[in-house]
Amino acid sequence: MKKKDLFLIGILLAAGIMGFVVFKGIQKSASSNEQILKISVDGEMYGEYSLKNKQEIKIGNTNVCQIEEDGRVSMIEADCPDHLCVKQGKIKEFGESIVCLPNKVVLEIVTDDEKTEKIDSIAK
Ligand SMILES: [Zn+2]
Repeated sequence: MKKKDLFLIGILLAAGIMGFVVFKGIQKSASSNEQILKISVDGEMYGEYSLKNKQEIKIGNTNVCQIEEDGRVSMIEADCPDHLCVKQGKIKEFGESIVCLPNKVVLEIVTDDEKTEKIDSIAK
């Protein structure tokens, strides 16, 4: 009898947690579709920054990128030999990216919803 009770409680708890996660997920996708700048270095997440905040971001000791007032992102400094990333200009739209191959730096514009999914796929 006791074992059966524990089993039932376990199921109820699991169902509760699942319901909570689903609810959170719905809440999140309904709340925002904000565009964010995702920076990764050598395949690892370096940081995520809202395009709404004007700022300069130092990426390690090798690159510096900039978010402008209107949400445009550009690489403004890099110590790579070709400077292709700096020459790539500005990105603003979802899905666009700037890549610095020698330094393995990737700037990518994603949406708030997209980001957890992308982190998952990197982890795999
Ligand atoms: Zn570069």
